[in-house]
Amino acid sequence: MSPASLERPLTLALSKGRIFDETMPLLAAAGIQVPENPETSRKLILPTSSPNLQLIIVRATDVPTYVQYGAADFGIAGKDVLVEHAAEHPGGLYQPIDLNIARCRLCVAVPVGFDYEAAVRQGSRLRIATKYVRAAREHFARKGVYVDIIKLYGSMELAPLVGLADAIVDLVSTGSTLKANKLVAVEDIAEISSRLIVNQASLKTRASALQPLIDAFARASSQDE
Ligand code: ATP
Ligand code: MG
Repeated sequence: MSPASLERPLTLALSKGRIFDETMPLLAAAGIQVPENPETSRKLILPTSSPNLQLIIVRATDVPTYVQYGAADFGIAGKDVLVEHAAEHPGGLYQPIDLNIARCRLCVAVPVGFDYEAAVRQGSRLRIATKYVRAAREHFARKGVYVDIIKLYGSMELAPLVGLADAIVDLVSTGSTLKANKLVAVEDIAEISSRLIVNQASLKTRASALQPLIDAFARASSQDE
């Protein structure tokens, strides 16, 4: 390993929004503050109060990629994102620790009044709009339901309202977005929370810097329970 890589601060990859917000208390528990807010700063590399740690701000779905290639030593990503990433890129990520943040459920939701149970019983072929293609495909395969999956990148709630799909597979926390669009969750697929993922090489070569942070995160997140 080159001396330069030993001196570079540890890099933690995060997405802005709820994961950033809910990670701040975990960093605080490790004695680390972040002076700048990614919502207002345009910087994509944020220093922290520790000279040994910097943050990079990336799209939620890109966090595993930065960590897998070692551009970030570790990162925080939802289980939803990790499942989809693992399908496309087997191996390469060190076993995640559940941080118990950004908790929600992956659900099947349908328009209010649509009889999902009857459609399933009758063996109807269902059109499902989702960002979570792999999780959705596995769920319906387990149930023995024939589905056509339509991949979307956001605003899944719209799809059943305009006739693109019969149902959606999406993340739900309070259900208020579903309700605002006259949809209702009819089935839970998985409990989702965010995980700490670590680059395998970093875990070996930078253990003395990384391990205390990993331990502090694990302690702080289990105290939340
Ligand atoms: P964007 O909303 O900017 O298009 P995104 O949906 O990938 O991007 P977020 O909405 O910040 O990003 O979601 C990041 C992660 O937070 C998700 O991968 C998921 O694990 C979790 N999450 C998403 N929606 C909710 C929710 N309603 N409640 C709790 N956690 C959620
Ligand atoms: Mg979102």
